Amino acid sequence: MAQNGLDTDIQFLPGVGPKRAELLRKELSVSTIGELIRLYPFRYIDKSSFVRIADARPDMAYVQIRARVSHVELYGGASSKEAVSYSDNLKFNTVRRMSVWVSDGTGEMEMVFFKGIKWMYDRLKPGLEFVFFGKPAAFNGRINVVHPEVDPAPQPQHQNPPQFQNHPQNSAQPLPEGTMTGVYQSTERLKNGGVTGKVMNKLMEAALAKGLGYVEETLPEHIMRRYGLVPIHFALRNIHFPKDMASLEKARYRLKFEELFYLQLSLLKQKYVRSREEVGIRMPKVGEAFNRCYESLPFPLTGAQKRVITEIRDDMKSGRQMNRLLQGDVGSGKTMVAVLTALIAIGNGFQACIMAPTEVLARQHYKNIQKFLAPTGVKSALLTGSSRVAERREVHAGLEDGSIGIIVGTHALIEDNVQFRNLGLAIIDEQHRFGVEQRSKLWRKASCGAPPHVLVMTATPIPRTLAMTLYGDLDVSVIDELPPGRKPVQTIHATEGKRGAMYRFMRDQISLGRQIFVVYPLIFETEKLDYQSLEEGIEQIAKAFPFPPYKMAVVHGKMTADEKKFNMDAFAAGRADILVATSVIEVGVDVPNASVMVIESAERFGLSQLHQLRGRVGRGSEKSYCVLMTGHKLSKESKHRIELMCATENGFELAEEDMKMRGPGDLEGTQQSGLPISLNIASLAKDGLILNAARMAAEAVLDDDPTLSSDRNQLLRKELRKDKYQIKDYSKIS
Ligand code: ADP
Ligand code: MG
Repeated sequence: MAQNGLDTDIQFLPGVGPKRAELLRKELSVSTIGELIRLYPFRYIDKSSFVRIADARPDMAYVQIRARVSHVELYGGASSKEAVSYSDNLKFNTVRRMSVWVSDGTGEMEMVFFKGIKWMYDRLKPGLEFVFFGKPAAFNGRINVVHPEVDPAPQPQHQNPPQFQNHPQNSAQPLPEGTMTGVYQSTERLKNGGVTGKVMNKLMEAALAKGLGYVEETLPEHIMRRYGLVPIHFALRNIHFPKDMASLEKARYRLKFEELFYLQLSLLKQKYVRSREEVGIRMPKVGEAFNRCYESLPFPLTGAQKRVITEIRDDMKSGRQMNRLLQGDVGSGKTMVAVLTALIAIGNGFQACIMAPTEVLARQHYKNIQKFLAPTGVKSALLTGSSRVAERREVHAGLEDGSIGIIVGTHALIEDNVQFRNLGLAIIDEQHRFGVEQRSKLWRKASCGAPPHVLVMTATPIPRTLAMTLYGDLDVSVIDELPPGRKPVQTIHATEGKRGAMYRFMRDQISLGRQIFVVYPLIFETEKLDYQSLEEGIEQIAKAFPFPPYKMAVVHGKMTADEKKFNMDAFAAGRADILVATSVIEVGVDVPNASVMVIESAERFGLSQLHQLRGRVGRGSEKSYCVLMTGHKLSKESKHRIELMCATENGFELAEEDMKMRGPGDLEGTQQSGLPISLNIASLAKDGLILNAARMAAEAVLDDDPTLSSDRNQLLRKELRKDKYQIKDYSKIS
């Protein structure tokens, strides 16, 4: 078998060896040359440009300074605070720290060394000029750089450049072409093990020299031509050692495209396969129940609701299983859509279940749908963890004999002893809170020979690019219109100094008959964090709003379901003026008379979460307010978040921004699901345009050849089989 250079262990690269190879394996998960080549820089340093010392700031990611050594101080021995005198017979093992003061004519800066001191000391002689590179930090009101990379400054010919020899970390060998140098992900361990940025650059050069020739093109000719993509060899060479900016851009575009293209191809192929193979329950009519409900609606449906219901209807009568994600901002009227969808199943002789993530929400759904079901005569029931045994038995029986048409519940619905007569539809609210396991358990309950139709509803707006990827194999419907007459929620940012004024405002609102939410991020004070805890908050509010006349209810995650229900009910029924809560009320809770949402330590919440919370008010006819309380000192990012919240109520806009700021991995609600494959170079937050192009390309390929069996698509087939493109199954909901 011919030795493939890409499979060669990295320990055989010059300067690596078994020990460093092990380190690279552990820290970067690369063990072969092929893997190393596919480890891309995450940024580039322009080695031809320098920062003036006077312009250096501690918040810069790095500085590159060209400066002369002015003097050197050594500290150590008995008292580390005192500079030690030094001489030729200095014992370097007693020196703990060396400060090298350098100057470039605009100012002086300190370069600090704790290790390798003797070696540096012998070279950084006063008067010589070097290039220093590293992360600046503020120290005692000055800026210093700890353990900078040091290179001799490029010198005019007649001077003797200082030679750095026999030291792998500081070899003065020039790197190949271009002025931009790649910077790779690193760790403390790598640095301690001598794998500095420069060493990585050298390794990469060696890896390319050995391995690049073996790399085969991963995209077919017709796609490269159509989308103007550079060949893989050019891309890999230039992603590590860009010849110039233009080449780097081409390389990046090509590699991002490749990654996103295969991701989409993989997702879409699953979807194509399923839509061809998977049978679904045919539900040809809307039925009596649907019509009765529709005719007695107290309001006309919005255009968006109508459109979505049509999309759902088409799925349900198609004979294929529906797998649809319904996205709609808080208050957009998803419940209505859920009810009508459930009634279609009923009208065709099937049962439907509506599953919610919490008991509070399940109850609320159950309560809300009663008024819509009343004119239909369809029997519904509620099943949660705290349903009593007798109740439970009755519900089980009703599901088994089919007398219960619609069952609303929590996880309790997926217990083994829950059996349906003929489950035809599963509606899942807030899908992020359900695991794959739990969901698949639900469809296994189908007893009609085909899996039930699935409608997943989420109020967490997901940016389009992310939805296309997270749910690339689902169909997506969006309710992008709020019911008419909704008043905008005025959002106000306030700091501690305004608390008195805020309490006055709250009293005014209460005297007008309104109710107020106060939400805290934490349940108990944690030592390190000075955030206001719920407990402290309760005390504070109890003092400012004494009983009588004010009444307060409390709901938090550590209460039992009964306690929560009791307190929530009290608030919903108007028996309390203020509901103090942790973010358990985030989803779904509907109290139209509540007109003020106060969010304490708002800087602790992500944008999507803030938006969800705000969506709890503005549901009634009164003008509503959201007050974001924060500390005085805010990070740039928190400040941006708060400003955005005050500026817009559009959930999709906020979600886009959230994704830009935090990256898709951290997006509210998506943490559990993560991404279906890990992206190496493309970013869903930033590469929306490339993603669109890649998606189009993938669609075109599959439209033409859904099974990828034509000759020209053999390469695609082969690539798709690589581990990297094997999609984890969480996004599959059937
Ligand atoms: P979501 O679940 O999407 O957050 P809901 O379904 O709870 O929103 O609807 C919010 C409120 O709007 C409910 O009180 C509901 O009765 C009402 N609603 C729903 N659709 C309409 C409509 N087309 N016109 C007027 N009000 C509506
Ligand atoms: Mg809802």
